[in-house]
Amino acid sequence: MIPADYHLHTKLCGHASGEPEEYLEQAVRQGIREVGFSDHLPLYFLPPGKTIPGYAMGEEELPLYVEMVQNCARKSPVRVSLGIEADYVPGCEKALAGLLSRYPFDYVIGSVHFLDGWGFDNPAEMEEYGRRDLDRVYEEYFALVQQAALSGLFDIIAHPDLIKKFAFRPARDLSPLYEETARAFQKAGVCAEVNSAGLRYPAGEIYPSFSFLKCLYKHNVPVTLGSDAHRPEQVGAGLPEALRLLREAGYQEIALFSARKKCFREIAGDGKQD
Ligand code: ZN
Ligand code: FE
Ligand code: FE
Ligand code: ZN
Repeated sequence: MIPADYHLHTKLCGHASGEPEEYLEQAVRQGIREVGFSDHLPLYFLPPGKTIPGYAMGEEELPLYVEMVQNCARKSPVRVSLGIEADYVPGCEKALAGLLSRYPFDYVIGSVHFLDGWGFDNPAEMEEYGRRDLDRVYEEYFALVQQAALSGLFDIIAHPDLIKKFAFRPARDLSPLYEETARAFQKAGVCAEVNSAGLRYPAGEIYPSFSFLKCLYKHNVPVTLGSDAHRPEQVGAGLPEALRLLREAGYQEIALFSARKKCFREIAGDGKQD
């Protein structure tokens, strides 16, 4: 049994498909005990009138999203939490805090998808890797992830080494960056998300990497589980592999949230027990 999948999108974001009910049906088929929707928060950090087409729901759709998830939760055979995936953009913290405070989220996942305006995980902006020093790119990325954690705005930090998505790997040793980042997470009291979407991309591995995961464990950083499903059939995909790595790193429990309060659920040792 998979204890949870806390990272499901909805078609409101403009680049996902399927009805929320289909995501829940797949969750039941996959033996997932509880799920959380965490669609992309509206692009609060852009100047008025600006948008990125097909990236996130509009601000006027946010109440609909909340209502849709709450309706779904009432009819669902599995527990459904109300989450959100919010971009972290330095300098826009106040706007983000204001927007988040208006809705009863169970948890907020903080994501770094932009380095100074560069959408580094967007296939359309991939050539930029070829123009940059990869060591610097990775250093900037992890610095921003640490800043996101320390902002106090988030319960969970999404896909904490997303920068490897397209498999542009730097020459430098990453372990000092993992160490610093794990320490920042621990200090901030945030969870790291173990996100299986990396398996579907050139990175070919879960976010975070196994060595980063071991470092997070060493620093007592709790984890959540998410498939980052953008289609019903992706719900739970790769999570058995994620659980295997978690156990191998030493983890015995994952974090769950209700009204932004954390609790823990044990992960079974052999996949039989619950
Ligand atoms: Zn998305
Ligand atoms: Fe993301
Ligand atoms: Fe996502
Ligand atoms: Zn995501």
